[in-house]
This record gives sequence, structure tokens and C-alpha cells, in this order.
Amino acid sequence: MAELQKPHRFHTVISHALVDRVKQCVLASREIVITCHVSPDGDALGSSIALWLVLKALGKSANVVTADCAPRSLQFLPGVREIIAATRQGDRAHELLAKADLIFCMDFNDPERVDRLTPALMNSKAAKIVIDHHLDPRLDAEVVISHPEVSSTSALLYILLWQAGWARKLNRASAACIYTGMMTDTGNFSYNSNDPDLYLIIHDLMRRGIDKDNLYKLVMNTSSESRVRIMGYAQYRMQILPQHHAALIALSEEELKEFDYNKGDTEGLVNIPLSIPEVAYSIFLREDNKNYVKISMRSKGDFSVSRICEENFGGGGHTNAAGGEFNGSLSLAIEKILEIIPNYDKYL
Ligand code: 5GP
Ligand code: MN
Repeated sequence: MAELQKPHRFHTVISHALVDRVKQCVLASREIVITCHVSPDGDALGSSIALWLVLKALGKSANVVTADCAPRSLQFLPGVREIIAATRQGDRAHELLAKADLIFCMDFNDPERVDRLTPALMNSKAAKIVIDHHLDPRLDAEVVISHPEVSSTSALLYILLWQAGWARKLNRASAACIYTGMMTDTGNFSYNSNDPDLYLIIHDLMRRGIDKDNLYKLVMNTSSESRVRIMGYAQYRMQILPQHHAALIALSEEELKEFDYNKGDTEGLVNIPLSIPEVAYSIFLREDNKNYVKISMRSKGDFSVSRICEENFGGGGHTNAAGGEFNGSLSLAIEKILEIIPNYDKYL
């Protein structure tokens, strides 16, 4: 195959000083851990596994350590079975974090985002490198490569690999991981995807042999029966709050049980109400148990749901996609949502 074309424009995205420090840290390290946020999505896992494959190809000893397992839709990713998830292998996960001398923090901006691994991450003496695209990184690290203007951590990793001179180590498997992250964080290139350079990356990944149509089918167009049913039911039950230009979907623990809910079944649900022109932001509440409701929000334009999640639900994320948590029942969470929504009308 002809020499892969080098997308020269990428060479100025990350400062040369930061790239050099990443290279020095990797060269000096003996035991590397790569971690990402809890309930990992395509971008968290895609960027983590791609980096792991490249580091191994560079002859380094590395492991991916996560708080919990990959969702079913991402089980096909190469090497996913070698990930050490703390929910299944708690001792091993803690042991690897304790003995690591370098930890890559992929696709998260706050130590709380690694859930049960937070104390181990914070207590670790290892050098830390953050590679992320969320707003306001709050991680104490030697190197912070934070680019909220890049649509996925996977695309940012690709650029870093080019700048570091490591892109030659990308193969079909790692290219598929990077593509998966880029695809999932842009809704298959339907938002945050107007940067023409993204398509230079895709061109390069395709030349490395990925089957992008099959990746779309595997990740974004494969559903269990329970998912198809729960998505239909949830949309039918959606409430519109016209005075606030908002949509609210709430699923109780009982409803989730009735529909035989599996982790990942409601992925993407919160985006759907935004297809209604009058809806400027969409809220999805999922009652995992009577003391815990997971909150997801999406918005259009400048209206920041990251701000709402930060100010009210101990969370955050991006301007148009954010999440948080509520400790209490679904009915209390709905009460709180209805109470705070009017405070944000002025930003609409
Ligand atoms: P999702 O709604 O898909 O779970 O998450 C949307 C975005 O918000 C993602 O970028 C994710 O990292 C961020 N996010 C989701 N939940 C939380 C949370 O509890 N805390 C913080 N800080 N960010 C979150
Ligand atoms: Mn991401």
C-alpha cells in the first residue's frame, strides 16, 4: 500500500511542549494504566483501547482499568475482554493502579468520574496525563491535554499520536477503536462534526482497513428487543413543557424492570426530543433504584445543560450534552427538575 498521507494540519493542534512531555513520560514509564469514565461509552472505550494497543505496539507494559464493564453494544471492540473492570476484578484493578508509574485519564475531567476507583486514582503516586474534551478539567495531572473544541477524545488521541510520531503504530484494530469514538460522540457525524479535518482522520482510518459501515451497524444500529420496546414506550410517555421549551422523559425502577432493561438500552434516547423544533433542551431521568436517579440532558445552540447539571446535580459535561446524579426517588428528582427549570428560562 502506498505510504499513508500525513495530515500536516494536525501538527499544531497540541502544543509541542505537551507532546514532548507525553513522550518523555511514556519513555520513562514501566507500568502504564489507562482509565476512562464510569459507564464507558464509545469514545471513552475507543480512545482507551486504541491508546493501549499503540502503547503495546511501542513495547510498553500497559493495562486498561475501568470502574465498570463495557456495554453490550461495545463488546465487539478488540481487546475488550482484557479490560480490568473494578466491578468484576476489584483487587486487580486497585493493584494495577497502585503499582502504575503512569496513568492516562481518557475522556473525563473530574476524578469523581471514575466512581469506585476515585480514591485509588487520587492516592496514586503515578504521573498522570489527561486527554479529554470536556469543559473545565479538574484533575491534578502532570500533563493536561484538554481540547473542548475537538468533538471526541478519540479524534484528539489520533492527533496526539500523529504529533508524537506514533501514528505509524495504528493498525486496523486501533483505527476501528478511534473511529468508534469519533462516530459515537458526534451521533454518526450529525453534530459537532463540521470540522473538515475530521474527515482527513476518517480517510486515514479507512486506509488502515476499517469497515466504517459495519462499525455503524454494530454500535449504533443493533438493538435488543428490550431496547426497541423501551425506546418506544419512553417516547410515548415523554412530557413537553412548552413554556420552558423543554422535554422530559422519566423512567421508574418498576418501568425499567417491566421492560427487562439492560445497561445501554436507553442510549441515545435523550437526543430524540430535540428533533422537535420547539424543544430547546431535553431531560432524561432514569431511576436505577429508589435512592439514585441518573440524569442526562441535551440542548441546542448556546443553551448550556452542562451548567444546569453542574449547579444542581453534581455533574457536568459539554454545553449541549451533560449529565449528573440525584440521590433520591424519581418523584423527588422530577420535583427538583420542575423547581429549577424556570431559573434557566432567561438563557433560552
Ligand atoms: P450521557 O448523558 O450520555 O450519560 O452523558 C453526556 C455527557 O455528560 C458526557 O460527556 C458525560 O461525560 C457527561 N456526564 C454524564 N454524566 C455525568 C456526571 O454524572 N458527572 C459529570 N461530571 N459528567 C457527566
Ligand atoms: Mn467523549
